[in-house]
Amino acid sequence: MSSGSVLPERIARLDELAHNLWWSWNPQARTLFRALDYPLWRLGGHNPVRQLREINAEKLAAAASDPDFLSLYDSVVSAFDARMSDRNSWFATHHPGSLQGPVAYFSMEFAIHNSLPIYAGGLGVLAGDQCKAACDLGLPFVGVGFMYPQGYFRQQISAEGWQEEVYTELDFDQAPIKPVNPVHRSIWCGPLIQLELGDRSVHVGVWQGQLGKITLNLMCCDLEENMPDDRQLCARLYTADQEQRLQQEIVLGIGGVRALRALGIEPAVWHANEGHSAFMVLERAREEVENGATFDEALSKVRANTVFTTHTPVPAGHDVFPIWLMEKYFYRYWESLGISREAFLELGQQHGPEDEDFNMTVLALKTADHRNAVSRLHGKVTRKMWHGLWPETGEYDVPISHITNGVHVPTWVAREMVGLYEKHLGDEMSQRFDEADLREEVLKIPNEELWTARSVLKRKLIGAMTERARQCSVQRECTASQVLAMGALLDPNALTIGFVRRFAAYKRPGLIFHDVERLRKIVTDTWRPVQIVFAGKSHPADHPSKQLLHDVYDLAAHGGFQGRLAFVEDYDMHIAHYLTQGVDVWLNTPRRLKEASGTSGMKAAVNGILNLSVRDGWWHEGYSGTNGWAIGDSVDTYDPEDEDRADAESLYRLLEEEIVPLYYRRDRAGVPHEWLQMVKESIGSIVPIFCARRMVKEYVERMYLPAGRQRS
Ligand SMILES: *Cc1c(COP(=O)(O)O)cnc(C)c1O
Repeated sequence: MSSGSVLPERIARLDELAHNLWWSWNPQARTLFRALDYPLWRLGGHNPVRQLREINAEKLAAAASDPDFLSLYDSVVSAFDARMSDRNSWFATHHPGSLQGPVAYFSMEFAIHNSLPIYAGGLGVLAGDQCKAACDLGLPFVGVGFMYPQGYFRQQISAEGWQEEVYTELDFDQAPIKPVNPVHRSIWCGPLIQLELGDRSVHVGVWQGQLGKITLNLMCCDLEENMPDDRQLCARLYTADQEQRLQQEIVLGIGGVRALRALGIEPAVWHANEGHSAFMVLERAREEVENGATFDEALSKVRANTVFTTHTPVPAGHDVFPIWLMEKYFYRYWESLGISREAFLELGQQHGPEDEDFNMTVLALKTADHRNAVSRLHGKVTRKMWHGLWPETGEYDVPISHITNGVHVPTWVAREMVGLYEKHLGDEMSQRFDEADLREEVLKIPNEELWTARSVLKRKLIGAMTERARQCSVQRECTASQVLAMGALLDPNALTIGFVRRFAAYKRPGLIFHDVERLRKIVTDTWRPVQIVFAGKSHPADHPSKQLLHDVYDLAAHGGFQGRLAFVEDYDMHIAHYLTQGVDVWLNTPRRLKEASGTSGMKAAVNGILNLSVRDGWWHEGYSGTNGWAIGDSVDTYDPEDEDRADAESLYRLLEEEIVPLYYRRDRAGVPHEWLQMVKESIGSIVPIFCARRMVKEYVERMYLPAGRQRS
């Protein structure tokens, strides 16, 4: 430990456990840290590194002599050691010796735990879940990303209903990471590598986080050796400044390769999660050219073991840089690749005319032999979208496949649900969520117990929301309508719908308000009330989406919905846990073909929440007819206004005629058996398929092993 009390010898490995994020998805390890000092645990945001720094010596001494604590400690340590040895893992038993090195996974963001705030949303959560499942399966894997001192941002809503962005500096001393080249009494990071950004040179340091045996290498430019502007280069995620974004992507792609080399890591497979990191292919090609290869030889070598996953079906969602900016940063680089300016620019152009911008997705598609989209439908949309890159093939044969996203069940499942699953399906549940017979087995869970668990989870959510409303009223002197909008009047017995997602126009947060009077009638029904909880951030530069957020908030605060609409501020992983466990229905209304996959509805399903969604993204393949509800039909040739009208009508009709009646149809003890039947159908049909274990196994067998074999 860098400071804090000295750990008693008997429990000395707590520090090692605290610095390995494996604890965050191991229920026993969580219990262990919680048991040390529960109030401190809560105050410190469930961060064991911080807890060990702040806990007093008496508490530690007491733990070290408490037999119950020690037996839990020993059990956690032995589970941890078993994970670290990995001899019986899925990968070791199914594919022994089949990869000559790790899979290097490059991602702009990673969402592992709130104590490491280096993510914005879905892409980061997917990356985090992928790393965790890779760890569970024993796959050799390293992550490459950024350590942003300010992360994304924290969201507050003003009394007038506008999003305010609050940036806070991370206290590195309390983060579960360690610097590779420590300076200043081992708490700060020194330079590891250097790279050229246009005419100047920047130093990059690396922080490392651990997930079991997996290391996340997080690059950082905030070093004394750098000029002030460069120190700020990687301060925040997704800055709106295009030039800064290009610089970040150079650091991620080119710097990431150099950092792995400097660390002596020799990957067998290189995986670009989204186009942000596509420059990594160029850097590896440059190395080959430096060793005497021609550019064509170099490229064919590196593309063979490169995997690219695209996540965006919306053209505007792809990173595109103007030619002048590319020239400014790459005019020397294309020389070092041994190619002309035109040949270089063409790598990022679909058609190749002089003035076409440089597209990172095009670069990745052209330079990776293994390409995939993230749901079946998204695969289809993606093949159509990029058909121009393979003009001589038919649309069906465009070489982009799909691997549907999945969620890391141990991260997202509620303690109460684990209890039920283990009791009725067996202790080893967490190792076999991806087995198909789950469907039969779930039926064994008695409705009464399932209903109790569901009710507890809803109470917890509403308790957390009212607590926040109370804090807001005390600390920020919120107005009465703000307190109302924060959910102070929510009722734990009412049917609760969650609309929880990034605010973006294509997700249509306003769809449910298409006919405000009709909605008000549904919501404020005396005998069968409905409430709706909203949460989500707008990108700081996305003004139309901020307006949407404002409008929703305004209706919650002043719309005459009797406190049955609420908005939870600052949607992050922590709040996501409460929401994906605590509501009854998960609402998703994207405009068709705009949602690549979506994963939050999968988390909800794990916890017995029913999906109510447009058949887009994962729900296009997830909906079975009996495991939730589909809004509208799957026609994709709507005019936007017709689409809104038809979907709103379908949504109201489903609520009025199916969802509300089903939820309130109870036996004498108040248990809604038919509802719970559907819940079981949903768990059994969704969890085995839309979990990260299935996803990562598919990546291994369909992408990583073929790519790894290509290595010469
Ligand atoms: C799961 C998750 C997401 C992704 O959800 P979508 O279904 O893509 O909307 C985004 N943000 C957080 C914090 C999450 O936990």
